[in-house]
Amino acid sequence: MKTINFNINDIVRPTIKALKPYSSARDEFQGNSDAMVFLDANENPFENGVNRYPDPQQRTLKSILSEIKNIDTKHILLGNGSDEVLDLIFRAFCEPNEDNIIILPPTYGMYSVLANINAIGIKEVRLSDDFQPKVDDILNMADSHSKVLFLCSPNNPTGNSFSGASIEALLSKFKGIVVIDEAYIDFSEEASWLERLNEFPNLMITQTLSKAYGMAGIRLGICYASTEIISILNRIKPPYNVNELTQQKAIQQLNLKELATNQINDILKERTNLIAQLKTVSFISKIYPSDANFVLVKVDDAVKRYDQLIEKGIVIRNRTTQPGCENCLRLTVGKSNENNILIKTLKGL
Ligand SMILES: *Cc1c(COP(=O)(O)O)cnc(C)c1O
Repeated sequence: MKTINFNINDIVRPTIKALKPYSSARDEFQGNSDAMVFLDANENPFENGVNRYPDPQQRTLKSILSEIKNIDTKHILLGNGSDEVLDLIFRAFCEPNEDNIIILPPTYGMYSVLANINAIGIKEVRLSDDFQPKVDDILNMADSHSKVLFLCSPNNPTGNSFSGASIEALLSKFKGIVVIDEAYIDFSEEASWLERLNEFPNLMITQTLSKAYGMAGIRLGICYASTEIISILNRIKPPYNVNELTQQKAIQQLNLKELATNQINDILKERTNLIAQLKTVSFISKIYPSDANFVLVKVDDAVKRYDQLIEKGIVIRNRTTQPGCENCLRLTVGKSNENNILIKTLKGL
């Protein structure tokens, strides 16, 4: 194990350090709900499946995730989508009008939106032409107020994974927190950085049930980090941030052991087919390598092709305004018949 000079107390905002967290009824007493009479939370006593407050620590759900991901529950925090988890990171570690974050465009749009909402500065270091982090430029850009570096790998909208060596160099040398957004990791050939969480005290990993696990509608985001970081986030999260229906549905789906794996394998097979077919479309000049469930392609005229597809009833994402993505379209891999319709339509344009 490397020794990295990192103390989370130097990063956390003073107001958060001093905070006395809200203590909910369900924090103060946790017991076997069948055996006890609960008169502590001003709930309606008539059962309908959701008349009780949900478990603020989502213990059953975390224990299932802990098994699937092979990590202790004390390293897990759950949120109302990754977006809530990312927002908690800003509110815990970034002082408004003082601190900044570093992002690597073209990348996921929420990092800069959340920075703007929270009055946090944004430093941008463009990815290289092959969409890899420029490690030296990033480290040179960082100053003493650079609290968080966001690495999205596999990256949205480009689809590629960042090189392991670059990520490791940044983890070792960046003085703040490094968040690796692994929303698409289950589609990737690369291993999750979860395996190496213990080596890097400044590492936070975010994942989601929205993509590979097929549950975008329930809003369940996951954060993995050191116990110190998790306990800081626990102090500021809304007590009942993951609702009962979400917890139940996630538990039910995750217990269908083969389901996600089978669907991921199907989607990967479809991705291979789709890429093969896209190569035969005359106005597609480049297909970027994908480690995710979408493919970025360069076309002759992104606005024109986007409008034509809408006209034919197919909605894709036009990414042409993103830096380095001129005339690029992002295509989500659908079911076999959906991909066939896309290809047929593209060929007919
Ligand atoms: C889709 C996506 C997410 C997921 O966000 P949720 O709020 O969990 O649905 C996170 N990061 C990236 C890069 C994404 O593309």
